[in-house]
Amino acid sequence: MKKIKNGFIVKSGNTLQKATIYIDGGKIFSVLPGDNSDFSVDEEIDAEGNVIFPGFIDPHVHFDDPGFTDREDFETGTRSAAAGGITTIIDMPCTSIPPVISGKNFDYKLGIVQPKAYVDFAFWGGVTPEQIDSGEYETTLKELKERGIVGVKFYTISGMKLYPRMPVPKMHVAFSYLKKLNLVAAVHSEDFYLVDFYSALMQNANRKDPESWFEGRVYEAEAKAIWSVMGIAEKVGNKLHIVHLSSKAGLEAVKWGKLHGIDITVETCPQYLLFTVEDLKRIGAILKTAPPVRREEDRLALWEGIENGDIDFISTDHAAGKYPEEKSSPDIWKDYAGIPGTQLVVSEILTYGYRSGKLTLENIRNLLSKNAAVRYGLFPEKGSMNIGTDADFTIVNINEEWKVDPLKLESKGKYSPLAGETLKGRVIKTIVRGEVVYDKDKGVLDRKGYGILVRSKQ
Ligand SMILES: [Zn+2]
Repeated sequence: MKKIKNGFIVKSGNTLQKATIYIDGGKIFSVLPGDNSDFSVDEEIDAEGNVIFPGFIDPHVHFDDPGFTDREDFETGTRSAAAGGITTIIDMPCTSIPPVISGKNFDYKLGIVQPKAYVDFAFWGGVTPEQIDSGEYETTLKELKERGIVGVKFYTISGMKLYPRMPVPKMHVAFSYLKKLNLVAAVHSEDFYLVDFYSALMQNANRKDPESWFEGRVYEAEAKAIWSVMGIAEKVGNKLHIVHLSSKAGLEAVKWGKLHGIDITVETCPQYLLFTVEDLKRIGAILKTAPPVRREEDRLALWEGIENGDIDFISTDHAAGKYPEEKSSPDIWKDYAGIPGTQLVVSEILTYGYRSGKLTLENIRNLLSKNAAVRYGLFPEKGSMNIGTDADFTIVNINEEWKVDPLKLESKGKYSPLAGETLKGRVIKTIVRGEVVYDKDKGVLDRKGYGILVRSKQ
C-alpha cells in the first residue's frame, strides 16, 4: 500500500479539498479527506500542496512507430507524454508502417511499441477503401475490435499513400459495420475536392508563403466534410467523432448534429485555441498543421464551444516533423504539417483556459481526462478517481510559471509555436498505476516498457 499525501483534489468548479489517496496494487484503494493515516503504507508520494487530477489522457497522437521513427518513436513520444502529465495516449493507426488495418498489424505494432512505452496507451484502428471493395473489412474490424481498439479513423482527405481517403459510399459501408460493433468512427474532416483544387491553384500561382497554406485549405471545407459524414451517421446511426475541429462553421455543424440526435462528439487542439492565421504568417512552418489555424472569430468560437460543453474534449494531434529539415523550407507547401504537442497541452490549457477565467479546474479535469475515457470506453479504469480504478494521477502546481524551451522537449521534434513563451501551471509528478513515471526534479524516470495497452470496453 502507498499513499499520496499533501495534495488537493478538485471537488467542483475551482473548489479544492485536501485529500489523502491510498493506492494498492496500482488501483485506487481509498480517497479520504484531509491528512489521513488510517492505513499503514510502505511508500508516500508527496504532492507538496499541489492539485491532484485524475491522470490526463491525450486521445489523439501520432507516435509514428514502427515506420516513421525518424520523426518520433514510442519511446520519445511516451516520454513527452509522461513529462507533460499525460498518463494515457491513444495512437492513430495511419502514421506507422504497416498501418493498423488488421489484427496481425495490430499485434506487430504492439510487440514493437510496448517495450518502449513510459505511459499507458490505446490504439485507434484503421480500414482502407481496398478492404471495403474486397469485403475484407469485416474480418479486419472484428479482429481489431477483439484487440480493444477505441475506434476507427477515417480521412475525407489524405496525403498518406498507405492510408488513403475514404469516399462517401465506402464510408457508409464501414460506418454500418462499426454500428454493429458499437465502435466510434473518428473523421479528419476537410472536403477533398475543395482543398485539392484550391491548394493546386495556390501552388500553380507559385505561392510559397504560409498564408497560401491557409487559403488553399479552404475554410468551408471543414464544415462541408462534417455535414457529409454527419449525413452518413444520421442514416446509419453509428457513433461519430470529429477530430481536431478548427472552425466556427465546423462547430455550428456539430452543434446541429447534437441537437438532432446524431451520436456525435468533437475534440479540438491547443493550436486552434491559441493561434490564428496572423500567427501562421508570423511564425511560419512551425505552426503548419492540417487543418490550418483559422481566424480570430474561429478561435473565440472554439473557446466558447469548450466553455459551454459543445466541444467534448481536447487532444493534441501530436505529430512531430523532422526538425529543422521538415519545418524550415521557404516553401510552405514542402513543410511537414504537424506539431508535437503532448508535453505542453496541460500547461497550455491551464494558462489560456484556467488563468483567463474561461475554464474551471473541474472543466479541465473533464476536458483532459474524463470525457475521452468515457467516450472511448476506457472508463471506469481511466479518467476518474473512483475506488478500484487505475491509480493514474497528474499532480500540477497551478501557480508555477515556466518558459517553453523546445530543446528541452522529450519529443524528437524540438520545436514549438510557443517557444520562449511563459506558461503558468506546471506538471510536478505523473503517476501511472501507482508508479511515478515523471518527477519535475528528476525528469522522466527510468521506466521504459512500464506502459501497457489499455483496451476499450465499448
Ligand atoms: Zn491526427
